[in-house]
Amino acid sequence: MEMQNTVKNPVFYSGIALHTGARANLGIKPAAPDTGILFRRIDLPGAPEIKALATNVVDVRRGTTIASGKGFVVTVEHVLSALNAAGIDNAIVDMDGAEPPIADGSAMPYLKMILDSGIECQNVPAKVFAPQQPIIIEDKETKLVLTPCDKLKISCIVSFGASVLDTQYFSTEINLDSFTNQIASARTFCIYKELEQLLAMGLVKGGSLDNAAIIHNGAIICKDGLRYPNELVRHKILDVVGDIYLTGMRVKAHIIAVKPGHPSNVQLAKAVISQAQAHSVA
Ligand SMILES: [Zn+2]
Repeated sequence: MEMQNTVKNPVFYSGIALHTGARANLGIKPAAPDTGILFRRIDLPGAPEIKALATNVVDVRRGTTIASGKGFVVTVEHVLSALNAAGIDNAIVDMDGAEPPIADGSAMPYLKMILDSGIECQNVPAKVFAPQQPIIIEDKETKLVLTPCDKLKISCIVSFGASVLDTQYFSTEINLDSFTNQIASARTFCIYKELEQLLAMGLVKGGSLDNAAIIHNGAIICKDGLRYPNELVRHKILDVVGDIYLTGMRVKAHIIAVKPGHPSNVQLAKAVISQAQAHSVA
């Protein structure tokens, strides 16, 4: 039987927040069994806590935003992705602002924090979701299919319709080893046209080629070249691993994701929660 884990020691990371461009500090701390992943806004009175659950998602436009009471945090998916892959069921994520540091736009800095801290087994059975029947989410060109599998596996296809950006496909089982070597360092990317709009809205003040790859006129602009020829599809998988952790469970399933995005990922997480609840009542 799989047991719950937390981090061994508190660990801290400091960097620039993507949208405000301000310095942001993030701490990952041990938590008791059955806590789940709790984000805590230590800069606000009463340090409001927001549980990382799909039911707390309030915005999915440029990343996944969760809110509860007077607290909210944006772009939680990269932190959640690292926690999911490392098998951390319980942790307090302390933040001194709404945004985590964007780091290099990947999940590697957060994964390193967790590995630096160490993983502590808590000897309480983990919450595992194994689907009873397939779940299908469809929205225009996006399609997500979740089918039974004895481990978490993600197969993803993306396409940007630009000549040098042919359709990219990647498929991998998600465990600490594969995530560390294949997924964690894949960076976020944005389309130049969208970037112009965001800049005009006063957003992405902390954005630079230090933390994102930019797609412009069918080419990819990024620092030090691509980390993988298909870095974009690997980052999409990274995002799915993060968003699916909004179920609060270890999902054992094969997720086939065609052009996934945060709206569909979160819809899938909600459908997983519904199926788990229906099954536990039945
Ligand atoms: Zn991302």
